[in-house]
Amino acid sequence: MTNANPLVDSFGRVHDNLRVSVTDRCNIRCFYCMPETGVEFVERSQILDFEEIERFVRVAVGMGIRKLRVTGGEPLVRRDLPVLIRRLAAIPGIEDLALTTNGVLLEEFAQPLFDAGLRRLNVHIDTLDRARFEQITRRDDLGRVLRGLATAKRVGFTRIKLNAVAVKNLVEADIVPLARYARENGFEVRYIEFMPLDAQNLWDRGKVLLADDMIAQLSREISPLAPVPDPDPRAPASEYAYADGGGMVGFIASVSRPFCLNCNRLRLTADGHLRYCLFAIEEDDVKALMRSGAPDEEIAALVRRNVAGKWEGHEINSTKFVAPPRPMYSIGG
Ligand code: SAM
Ligand code: SF4
Repeated sequence: MTNANPLVDSFGRVHDNLRVSVTDRCNIRCFYCMPETGVEFVERSQILDFEEIERFVRVAVGMGIRKLRVTGGEPLVRRDLPVLIRRLAAIPGIEDLALTTNGVLLEEFAQPLFDAGLRRLNVHIDTLDRARFEQITRRDDLGRVLRGLATAKRVGFTRIKLNAVAVKNLVEADIVPLARYARENGFEVRYIEFMPLDAQNLWDRGKVLLADDMIAQLSREISPLAPVPDPDPRAPASEYAYADGGGMVGFIASVSRPFCLNCNRLRLTADGHLRYCLFAIEEDDVKALMRSGAPDEEIAALVRRNVAGKWEGHEINSTKFVAPPRPMYSIGG
């Protein structure tokens, strides 16, 4: 489907990718995303309902959005998520619908999600070591995530991706076992450099396990890795293939190789705010507009304004960097 009037920002970047967060709540507490205790969640009445989410997505699809990712917080703690997935999957014009989850509830939800039309899953797992999983997430749920992955595979999900956050002096011993597990199961790992989006301001550059170091480690200990061109050059991950034919691995190197120049993404938070960047400081209040009775044209105009005002890129590597006021769980990763 072509679009006569695409969503283009002032740097010529066409936006066709939307991430919708359906909740800021979560059933685990990864330290790089949430504090251990005392998290203040948005009141339920301030979270977009399914009608509002679907309406916004339809408007966005009318403006050229083709790829949609549902995320959170933990999307599977949102009641009746498969009902929303079915509604989103039925919107004409969506060419790619994906879900990012921590996998804790996947054993229960893999089948209903598949039946609702979902075909693409990213499951967040940093380690296969039970103690380290608990250290990172402050919950003893590794077994549930592994069972969830096995169930997802059994019900028919293919191309499952594993999201692993790369934190220095913490997960070095997990990189290779996770890669081996993925190769054995036909999954593809995405190692994500730790980004400054944690709720407790723990981040500093020295705590980032860099893509180059992981590529060297995997090449040494498993099989040499060579870069492969991604079919979608605007995708955030740099893709690599193992020389022994054992599949692919991706690196989201937001810190060491920022990919802002190719950014095609917008984000809608669970409380209905539109953001043109994970690290944006400003956002637009879509929910207030919708709840004031505004017609679709006004929502579309707000989307266009948001994109028009998009900055060139984040400044993680500069002294000018200011961390966004919302941590990861509240933005939607
Ligand atoms: N709860 C789901 C999950 O964990 O996949 C979806 C939301 S979570 C915010 C989305 C992704 O963000 C996770 O897969 C995790 O890998 C990533 N993430 C969270 N905090 C991060 C951080 N500070 N730096 C890099 N990636 C992070
Ligand atoms: Fe929850 Fe995902 Fe954040 Fe971990 S990264 S605390 S699973 S929202």
